[in-house]
Amino acid sequence: PRKRKAQVAADETGPAIRITHPDKVLYPDDGYTKQDVVDYYRAVMDWFLPGVIGRPTSLIRFPEGIAHSSFFQKHIPSGGLHYVGSARLKEETGASAVYLYPKDADSIIELVQYNTLEFHPWGSHVDDPDMADRVVFDLDPGPDVPWERVVAAARLTRKLLKDMGLESFLRTTGGKGLHVVVPLRPASDWDTVKGFAQGFATALAGSHPLDFVAVSTKKIRHRKIFVDYLRNGRGATAVASYSLRGRPGAPVAVPLRWEELGKIRNGAAFDIRSTPERLKRLRKDPWAGIDAVEQSLEEVMKRLGGG
Ligand code: ATP
Ligand code: MN
Ligand code: MN
Repeated sequence: PRKRKAQVAADETGPAIRITHPDKVLYPDDGYTKQDVVDYYRAVMDWFLPGVIGRPTSLIRFPEGIAHSSFFQKHIPSGGLHYVGSARLKEETGASAVYLYPKDADSIIELVQYNTLEFHPWGSHVDDPDMADRVVFDLDPGPDVPWERVVAAARLTRKLLKDMGLESFLRTTGGKGLHVVVPLRPASDWDTVKGFAQGFATALAGSHPLDFVAVSTKKIRHRKIFVDYLRNGRGATAVASYSLRGRPGAPVAVPLRWEELGKIRNGAAFDIRSTPERLKRLRKDPWAGIDAVEQSLEEVMKRLGGG
């Protein structure tokens, strides 16, 4: 059969974005093409967008598919983009640079047209980049850690946060571990968030030294779970909910209800096919209410300090 011509992908809300090379295979082991990736992001768009809109977002692009080299991109390329937002933000060094951020469905499709598979947003928004509205505890199991222990670690993290009065939400990463996400409202500055995350991780590792470590040194991570609190700083990122991963099988980072945790077999339990199917079956957002949660680190520290 002849190759399909470049397709025009349009949706009701925006102008058409031309997808070139829709038949290009991006996941060679699985046969998934660029068009499959476009179709995936269109299928999950309403679930995906709330986690990335207005946030500076790093992309991982795979121009020749996942068997070839990828690159990390956080700035608007010199040629410019039509449907993606750009915001000039200060760098740690004091200089500034133009960061990209998704505005809507067209932004996402345009970035997929440029072979973006993964989206990694900041924990803050372009209009207030110094204030974080989420803390991410990235649980990274060492090579010999059985899945049940990752599950237990996530539950313990949730419980300790709950004891401090903080509600948390769970997602798979599409990789080896899990993320426990704490929404903040009102938001906190990055120093506060970083201090809190580091303190929490250090205390967890201190009280459960056989299970956790809070430093990333490879040697001592053997048989342990690294509580990677470094996701919590200005400019640091964590993979977006519903982002594909550029790994074999086309796994997806998927929000779960805590009650579902016992039912999944690993961090890559959902993929490009099963995730849209899951969303069709779901009656309720597994993260329902996350935007209504009112909790702040200032409040927690005041309570702990004054208790
Ligand atoms: P896994 O469950 O396999 O650990 P993960 O997405 O949590 O998957 P990590 O390596 O733990 O992968 O990284 C956590 C987050 O940190 C990533 O989602 C990504 O946003 C960010 N990150 C990882 N590596 C880099 C890097 N080299 N540069 C910038 N950010 C990175
Ligand atoms: Mn991780
Ligand atoms: Mn990590």
